[in-house]
Amino acid sequence: MTSTNDIRRSFLDYFESAGHSRQPSAPLVPQNDPTLMFVNAGMVPFKNVFTGLETRPYSTAVSSQKCVRAGGKHNDLDNVGYTARHHTFFEMLGNFSFGDYFKDQAITLAWELLTGEWGLAKDRLTVTVYHTDDEAASLWKRIAGLPEERIIRIATKDNFWAMGPDGPSGPCSEIFFDHGDHIPGGPPGSPDEDGDRFVEIWNLVFMQHLQENDVIVSDLPKPSIDTGMGLERVAAVLQGVHDNYDTDTFKALIHASEELTRTRAEGEQKASHRVIADHLRSCSFLIADGVLPANEGRGYVLRRIMRRAMRHAHLLGAAEPLMHRLVPALAAEMGAAYPDLIRAQPLIEATLRQEETRFRQTLSNGLRLLDEATATMGEGGTLPGETAFKLYDTFGFPYDLTEDALRAQGLGVDRAGFDAAMAEQKARARAAWKGSGQAASEEVWFDLVEEHGATEFTGYAGHDGEGVV
Ligand code: ATP
Ligand code: MG
Ligand code: MG
Ligand code: MG
Repeated sequence: MTSTNDIRRSFLDYFESAGHSRQPSAPLVPQNDPTLMFVNAGMVPFKNVFTGLETRPYSTAVSSQKCVRAGGKHNDLDNVGYTARHHTFFEMLGNFSFGDYFKDQAITLAWELLTGEWGLAKDRLTVTVYHTDDEAASLWKRIAGLPEERIIRIATKDNFWAMGPDGPSGPCSEIFFDHGDHIPGGPPGSPDEDGDRFVEIWNLVFMQHLQENDVIVSDLPKPSIDTGMGLERVAAVLQGVHDNYDTDTFKALIHASEELTRTRAEGEQKASHRVIADHLRSCSFLIADGVLPANEGRGYVLRRIMRRAMRHAHLLGAAEPLMHRLVPALAAEMGAAYPDLIRAQPLIEATLRQEETRFRQTLSNGLRLLDEATATMGEGGTLPGETAFKLYDTFGFPYDLTEDALRAQGLGVDRAGFDAAMAEQKARARAAWKGSGQAASEEVWFDLVEEHGATEFTGYAGHDGEGVV
């Protein structure tokens, strides 16, 4: 079996042999981009190179970039534990051309890696192109020999990427692996495309236009390439499993949590083990990159993820703080590729332990309140916003933790009621506040992003806009 660590190396080696400069992953906290909560795509550290603001001593590059999609308006947090293919933290393998090669070579390199180097069966691969991109469609036909019906034209923004209202933009092409008809889900573009059968493994972006105010004004003199492939998804494919959580890395983490909790990742407890394994990665990597739990901004996203994981540890009956005891298993899996993880290991363990120790008391009290409040509710019931707010305010339950807790019972939360209670409390606090008059700008900014979404578009344009945080 090819390990995830080998696959990462193989990708980097392949593109390095093809002349790309090997670049390390940037930290998860964006270095030059205050509008973005976390790096959520491989291209983020290269944004200024694509726009021409910055130059580098190379015109093509390859990286494996740490990504988090768990903050702001759009994120994959709610998918974790429930789909085979979404994580809050994942690695995006990417090759980039800054005005060097374009579509022809990008498709050739991708196809050669997948079907040559890695030996994937051609008939398991399907691609999409933007509906007007005849050039990409005919390249797929010529280079890959794919039949028309497996070159699917998509007219939505799923297949059109833009950096923002102003800046580079262009069509994209997504490569899907068909895990087989025993898995529910349809091909891209079909009504049941969100199933786990056809899994998007790689996204190629062809930057060829320049936009102003969301309108294409010209073609770029030197078009560029930006690609992103989910390491965990391609690991599942290459390891012959359908589910990311059945790959070597996740199996090791889940095994560790099974051992420590003396439970099995089966039945009702399966999702809990998956959530714990996923959240262990995002929390540990965020702490290693300098994020600490807090009540606003990035630190609050971290706290939310940590507390969610802790509720699942509680569900598994863990009598003692659990998360920090899983860090050695993570370090064993990923420490060689990410030495910072080893360097930060004491800090990660101490932070997780402290947060979990503190939260345990309020967690069980809050869960009791939640049980009482929902005892008489039937399936499809809704928890009053007031109660969700009390859980937040008194017991430290992030809103999405409450939502996650009720999901298994088929219950929802009155979001509008929660927001109203929150707004009321903020208004009270503001009225009572006799501060210096200086706004906590980052907090305010992230509040706005939570409510309205960022105006600046960064990362890939997913079909549900995960690129935007
Ligand atoms: P999907 O449609 O499956 O949500 P996407 O189109 O949002 O994926 P991109 O923004 O195109 O994803 O990111 C490039 C690649 O990164 C994807 O092709 C996929 O392999 C991987 N990827 C994206 N989101 C996740 C995630 N939450 N967990 C794991 N891998 C991911
Ligand atoms: Mg995509
Ligand atoms: Mg997609
Ligand atoms: Mg997505």
